[in-house]
Amino acid sequence: MDHTQAKARIEELSGLLEQYNHEYYVLDNPSVDDYTYDMLMHELADLEQQYPDLRSAHSPTQRVGGTASNQFEKVSHEVQMQSLQDVFSIEQVGSFVTRCREEFPDVQFSVEPKIDGLSVSLEYRDGRLTLGSTRGDGFVGEDVTANLKTIRSIPLTLKTELPLVEARGEVYMPRESFYRLVQEQEENDEQPFKNPRNAAAGSLRQKKSEITARRKLDIFIFNLQRCEGRTFSTHDETLQFLEDCGFRVIPGRKICSTTEEITAAIRSIGDSRADLPYDIDGVVIKVNALSERDAMGATSKTPKWAVAYKFPPEKKKTTLRSIEVNVGRTGALTPVAVFDTILLAGTSVSRAVLHNQDFITDKDIRLGDTIVVRKAGDIIPEVLRSISHTEDSVPYRLPECCPVCGAKAVRDEEEAVLRCPNISCPAQLHKQLVHFASRDAMNIDGLGPAIVTALLDAELVKDAADLYGLQKEQIMTLEGFKDRSAEKLVAAIDKSKSAPLDRVIFGLGIRGIGQKAASLLCAHFGSLDAIRSASREEIAAIEGFGDIMADSVCTALHDPSVEALVKRLQDAGLEMPYEKRETATDGFFSGKTVVLTGTLTMKRSEAKALLEAAGAKVSGSVSKKTDYVIAGEDAGSKLTKAQELGVTVLSEAEMQKKLSE
Ligand code: NAD
Repeated sequence: MDHTQAKARIEELSGLLEQYNHEYYVLDNPSVDDYTYDMLMHELADLEQQYPDLRSAHSPTQRVGGTASNQFEKVSHEVQMQSLQDVFSIEQVGSFVTRCREEFPDVQFSVEPKIDGLSVSLEYRDGRLTLGSTRGDGFVGEDVTANLKTIRSIPLTLKTELPLVEARGEVYMPRESFYRLVQEQEENDEQPFKNPRNAAAGSLRQKKSEITARRKLDIFIFNLQRCEGRTFSTHDETLQFLEDCGFRVIPGRKICSTTEEITAAIRSIGDSRADLPYDIDGVVIKVNALSERDAMGATSKTPKWAVAYKFPPEKKKTTLRSIEVNVGRTGALTPVAVFDTILLAGTSVSRAVLHNQDFITDKDIRLGDTIVVRKAGDIIPEVLRSISHTEDSVPYRLPECCPVCGAKAVRDEEEAVLRCPNISCPAQLHKQLVHFASRDAMNIDGLGPAIVTALLDAELVKDAADLYGLQKEQIMTLEGFKDRSAEKLVAAIDKSKSAPLDRVIFGLGIRGIGQKAASLLCAHFGSLDAIRSASREEIAAIEGFGDIMADSVCTALHDPSVEALVKRLQDAGLEMPYEKRETATDGFFSGKTVVLTGTLTMKRSEAKALLEAAGAKVSGSVSKKTDYVIAGEDAGSKLTKAQELGVTVLSEAEMQKKLSE
């Protein structure tokens, strides 16, 4: 590669890595797996080493990837929160050890599991938690104290009253909580988080602490950043001190002296992955003596006294035994590969989603094939390819009929998905009822999937309206129910009669209409009758709605079976109240022209609805008449124009503050 080619490739790689950083750190929604990202980063670092004149100070190799969003107050870190130098082989670990030993012949290392979550700092003054923040770009992070306080293993007061203690740790989402959350998101037709790491980041950076609290995050502490009133000589001592203070400190660490000992520790940590209830993505090897660390120093991005050995994504061959077809709440038929169990990245895996017919056809996946399945520590397993077919195999076609009710499946023209069109299909009905009763819809306490199955099996209900006719005595005929538990369920069902209209609409499970869309519909029209009378065009004109969503609402609400269901729900006593928020006339934004720009943490449509409710006119372009510009991440030309015209620019956090005043 000559200089010109290297320059072009460096630019291309930098652009790609910037985009991936944004998706990963800001949107919590990566589009490539970590391994792919790491390989691109290494290619860039290698090129920059070959052509040092092409290395810019802004290169992704020189900076910690995150940025603090405007959603939270910003926090400057007294001690920089750095990243770690990655290595991918034992040889590279050996080179690191040799480098350290050249400087300090008796060097010792702390070898620790690398928890796959997000880094936070916790500051305690006089033993009390005063500030909790994210890493951000390492210098400036976000103040997420309120959200961190919902994590029960974070002590609010320490068992020491030293004037200042700052600890650094990794917030993570236990695997079980992650799978539960993904299931909930799928049932609610929301885009699920891709892995526990992104789920943890997305959950910690929530505006509402109640949501963070529900997500069941946890933390391991791995470093003492600052301490006043006590000194230490080794990292190991600091971790012991942090444990004594009441922190949950990184478990399974070992002190090692040689590459052989480190290799054994890496193996043993790797072998333990299957038994851990959380994801680790590697092993961190750190110099133990604090004076040696100080002498070794750091680059702008990583300390020179530590490396992170990353586990490679594991791939394994297995045999595809069958393809199961799951029926979703809206009738989508999703094929799932069922194969001989393999141990991958620490977990036993025997199933992987095959998406749709196009995916299966492209990869020519057939029953009985030898297939390759890949799973990085934190990634949902995927079928990479088929390596060989059996002699008599034939291309696989998804069944033409729903495997549960037998109705002929249909393929929407613009979608790759096959659907069961029968809204009384038992599989859909089950998922519909579970969804209807779920916390974000009617919030019927105690009516989970198992009870729904029991009610359907006993033919006590056939749809959501039947729930409201259930008698205590009928429920008591179900296994596990006694007088009191049956009474409680009846009371919970009864209580849901007063659920507001937006929850009922969400609970109806209209395709593509999630919680936010249901709220927007209600905010716009104010009542069920008004929504029903609205034309497709009127609905499509709501910001955040498009033709497809508008079509979906109209089709559903004018479908005779849905109309009948809604009527029976009303007859059963559902009030479906909705208080249309009055437009404010005396608030900060009332009568003002506001322009939204850049990436906001909330949906544009949501911000617009909030501003309009506060009396603002939301416009698409900046002019002299604009009163305020609300600038999110990466705001571009509109922000520049606002600055040129002297228009007041507010961050999203400032907008929220003004709205709540
Ligand atoms: P990193 O995840 O490779 O390692 C540094 C982090 O490890 C520290 O910030 C710390 O929080 C954490 N850590 C966990 N346990 C630790 C322990 N025992 N001791 C010390 N630190 C510990 O680096 P990063 O800068 O946080 O993120 C970069 C990585 O994120 C990339 O290598 C890539 O894998 C992933 N990434 C992926 C994408 C994508 O699009 N898939 C995009 C950006 C980043």
